[in-house]
Amino acid sequence: MPLREKELIAGLRRMAASKPRRGIATGIGDDCAVLQIPSGHEALITTDFSLEGVHFRCDWHPPESIGHRCLARGLSDIAAMGGEPIAFFLSLALPRALPQFWVNRFMRGMLKLAEKHRATLAGGDTAESPGGILADIVVVGSVPKGKAILRSGARPGDGIYISGQLGGSAAAVQRMQAGPDRKLSGKKLPGKKLETRLYPDHFYPEPRIKLGKILREKRLATAMIDTSDGLSTDLAHICEESGVGAELEATLIPRSSVGNPSRAVELELALHGGEDYELLFTAPKGKRIPAQIAGTPITQIGRITDQKAIYLKVENGLRPLKARGWEHFRN
Ligand SMILES: [Mg+2]
Repeated sequence: MPLREKELIAGLRRMAASKPRRGIATGIGDDCAVLQIPSGHEALITTDFSLEGVHFRCDWHPPESIGHRCLARGLSDIAAMGGEPIAFFLSLALPRALPQFWVNRFMRGMLKLAEKHRATLAGGDTAESPGGILADIVVVGSVPKGKAILRSGARPGDGIYISGQLGGSAAAVQRMQAGPDRKLSGKKLPGKKLETRLYPDHFYPEPRIKLGKILREKRLATAMIDTSDGLSTDLAHICEESGVGAELEATLIPRSSVGNPSRAVELELALHGGEDYELLFTAPKGKRIPAQIAGTPITQIGRITDQKAIYLKVENGLRPLKARGWEHFRN
């Protein structure tokens, strides 16, 4: 059955209405959503495209994972500011031939993550796509006035820290690119159970909302960004905005083990592989940073310098570190 817009909207509305409505004065069904920003807070707004063939592939990603990752990107941006999500808006352009059950599974993945982080689907739009699937997400969050953690606050001498492990998401992409062509006929959408289980960092990344909030509340971080483009690129953003340089230590960078401690991913993937959605932050020299916050390991991987360039300390000295984040699925 081809998708019909009215039914699609009704379906989305049904799914959205059953979820918590904190912060929503008026949700889907009026010309605009009316949101309640807690008093003494400022609104955070972020927007992210998810395009078939660029950010996901239907022969690689189960619909639940696509929905999850789509929202995770926006939630991760809210986390990177030290904020908390309130609502999100979803605009979907779908090919006419796409089965309704794909949309249901996509929404299930998205709403499960939304519920976990108490974010309400408060509106959106739908259209028929002449080509692939396109999902555009807007996430609205809040942060106490003047307390958002910006990219511009890093100072020479600050330590550089990363949450979790890096490279796991890129390792999954590498694995799928290397694997046999598993493209299935349009009839049965692939479950890809094996890979989703082995590579949770890629299929179901966990936005670090709680960690970001604690870093903000305890005033631990001077600057912060989420690692959506890859460590080398995201650190360059902090350095650029702060007008500083950095020195990383190769041996300190926590590399994802993708389910097997004896086979950590290559350093290159940890440095440049994107879509890990960890938090990269700086903290003043001498500030005690716990080894674990909100259940997530925190590792110091280097320090901020006044040199206006980024270097990587390896066995035989320093080498310049170029920003070259992971290029999605371009082959
Ligand atoms: Mg970001």
